[in-house]
Amino acid sequence: MLVTGAGGFIGGHLVAEFRRLGYQRIRAVDVKPVEEWYQRFEDVENLSLDLNLRENCETAATGADEIYSLAANMGGMGFIEHNKALCMLSVLINTHMLQAALAHGCKKFFYSSSACVYNADKQTTFEAPSLKEEDAYPAQAEDGYGWEKLFSERMCRHFREDFGLYTRVARFHNVYGPWGTWFGGREKAPAAICRKVIEAKLGGTYEIEIWGSGVQTRSFMWADDCIKGVQLIMDSEILEPINLGSTEAVSINQLVDIVEDIAGVKLKRSYNLAAPKGVNGRNSDNTLIKKYLNWEPDTSLRVGLEKTYAWIYDQYLAREKGLPGVVRESFVAGKA
Ligand code: NAD
Repeated sequence: MLVTGAGGFIGGHLVAEFRRLGYQRIRAVDVKPVEEWYQRFEDVENLSLDLNLRENCETAATGADEIYSLAANMGGMGFIEHNKALCMLSVLINTHMLQAALAHGCKKFFYSSSACVYNADKQTTFEAPSLKEEDAYPAQAEDGYGWEKLFSERMCRHFREDFGLYTRVARFHNVYGPWGTWFGGREKAPAAICRKVIEAKLGGTYEIEIWGSGVQTRSFMWADDCIKGVQLIMDSEILEPINLGSTEAVSINQLVDIVEDIAGVKLKRSYNLAAPKGVNGRNSDNTLIKKYLNWEPDTSLRVGLEKTYAWIYDQYLAREKGLPGVVRESFVAGKA
């Protein structure tokens, strides 16, 4: 099994799951130095490689039966709105990875696309319109990041149709959980809000800045649901890109309400209307995934956020004390 982007949030969880399932030959690849990966395991082949380069994709794909292609230059809205060219350059990773998969006789190839492929005109209202798979066309994806995802998922389709490569594609809707980015500019809304609430509480300011008006709506998928969905979709007969997301839509204000409740605080809110906020409303329509798999991501946001908040809280305290991250060490020792 090859997992790319394994030093990141979802890739790390996928490697952890394959270990739990007992796979013996897992290769984990990321451009970051191995010491900086969120989760790393001594019994896995960990390689630090830049997959923009074809020769590194060849190295990564050698001997791999299954490839889970998650590597991408990405982040939350703050990152993707200001780094469109960098996001689009991930097309090099996906092009070279598909070519390498084909050249090395890979049996199954999974690609992580995104809800950012959906047509912006269908996401102008705050009532969280549920996006069906067909709503990606006519194409007017999120500029930069979304266009690259749409192009790469299309390439997966044509590698399958023209070259016979087994490809499966899921469109992830906002994934959250522990072992992901929670500060530094690439973090997404759930992690950013957990961190801001912790800062306000421990710093004694009891104030929080929210990006946008707070009424924009989204759904958020618990990481374990995402990992389960990836495996089900990889082994399915679903040929076209399919939504993998929760249907529990909330406004950003409601997201803050839940985190405040978990933290046991009430904060004074200010709204930064100039900050990147993305589309007004977005939700996952799960008709297709339920039809094919008789399953959909269903962990409640409250349950997932409690665990995420607790993890970020620990990381925050560790960072304050100058420690590398309190929980990480037990994973390195292979006690996961
Ligand atoms: P992440 O940023 O935590 O992980 C991506 C990893 O890819 C990073 O560790 C990064 O170092 C690595 N990477 C970047 N460029 C690379 C390169 N040239 N060579 C090798 N590795 C490289 O992000 P994530 O949240 O784990 O996302 C995983 C995948 O899921 C991405 O493709 C992302 O676009 C997609 N996705 C994520 C979400 C979400 O909510 N997290 C939503 C939609 C789609």
